[in-house]
Order: sequence, then structure tokens, then C-alpha cells
Amino acid sequence: MTVFAQAEFLRAVARSADLPAPGPPEIALAGRSNVGKSSAINALAGRRSLARVSKTPGRTQTINFYSLGDSARLVDLPGYGYARVPQPMRAHWRELVGEYLDGPREIAGIVLVMDARHPLTELDAQFLSWLSSVRAAPLVALLNKADKLPRSAQKRALDDVQRRLDGAPTTLFSSITLQGVDECRDLLAAWLRAGRENKKPPVKGM
Ligand code: GDP
Repeated sequence: MTVFAQAEFLRAVARSADLPAPGPPEIALAGRSNVGKSSAINALAGRRSLARVSKTPGRTQTINFYSLGDSARLVDLPGYGYARVPQPMRAHWRELVGEYLDGPREIAGIVLVMDARHPLTELDAQFLSWLSSVRAAPLVALLNKADKLPRSAQKRALDDVQRRLDGAPTTLFSSITLQGVDECRDLLAAWLRAGRENKKPPVKGM
């Protein structure tokens, strides 16, 4: 059984003041609204409806925390870049996600979920650039909805993203066919192991 099979919903956080205290290492999922983050969480956990899959993009502006037993957490960041989300909500997004990333928690890695048909859009590039100014963490790019592309186009998308991300781990993924799910689980489990092995003593007063 993988650690992901133990996934349980912990809480949805709408305001940075409500962020849970730092606990075990966390893996955060980011991506544009509607790219399939919730579906990817369900696929990784091997569950149908742990995370709510939406047909209406951009509604959820909460950070959703899931426990993976006592040893790790999965964190679903609110999707970015939904055009119809009004400006104050975008400011809210930046404040909430910024507080999460900038805090004292241990982030073992970040999963950037993208649509294999439109990988690394301008918004994804903006997110990556902003992310690098806030927090350094290992990154994996998931090219989700790969089932919608023929094999040749999948390969082109994979090569293109790997080249543009300077060889960062990149996985073709499908929440429907489960392509790439085991590969992704293995990588995330390795991050969590590495996080546990490098664990520093807790900072006094936290
Ligand atoms: P989120 O907003 O990023 O959490 O996206 P959701 O997980 O709610 O998915 C958005 C839409 O994309 C839903 O209609 C899903 O059924 C669909 N979807 C998600 N993953 C896949 C996939 O791998 N393949 C296909 N064909 N559709 C997907």
C-alpha cells in the first residue's frame, strides 16, 4: 500500500490566518483552474471522490489539506488564472498562496499540474517565476489529460516541457487512464523520504 492510499481530507483554508501549524512534510499541487488538480489527487490516492472534481472552473479559492497518515500531507493550492475570477480574488489568491509558501512549513516538493495539450502557458510561466521568488522546492510537471493526445503529440509535449524547464522531472499523466500515476507516486514518495532523512531539529519557539 502506498502512503497515498491513506489520504484523508483534513481541512479547507480560505484565509491565511487559518493555515494549520506546520506539521509533517507537505507536497503542494498547483496549476491553472480546471487543469485537473482534484482529479490528479484522486488518481494519486486511488480514490474516486476524495477531492471534488468540478465542471465549473475557478470557484474554489481555498487551500485544501489532506493527510497522508502521520508522515506527510498533500496540499491542493487554489487554481490560478481563471479569467472570470475578479481582481480582488486574484489578490486574495496571491495573499493566501504567498503566506502558505513563505511560511515555516516543510514543502518537500511542488507538483505543477498542466494540460498536456497546452503545457507551460504564459500563466504557468508567471506562476513559476513568482514561485521561485517566494520559495525554492523540487518541482515535477504533470502533463495531465494526456489521454486526449495521440502518442506522437504526447512525446512532443513531454520533450518541449522538459527542454523549457531545464530537464525538471516531467510526467505524462491521465486521471482517466492512470498513465503516469505510479511514476508520480514514486517520485513524490522519494521526495518525502529525502525530506525525512534531511530533517533538521525543530526551530525553538515554533
Ligand atoms: P481542477 O479545477 O484543476 O481541480 O480540475 P478538476 O479535477 O476539477 O477537473 C476539471 C475537468 O477536467 C473535469 O471535467 C475533469 O473530469 C476533467 N479531467 C481532469 N483530469 C482529466 C484527465 O486526465 N483526462 C481527461 N480527459 N479529463 C480530465
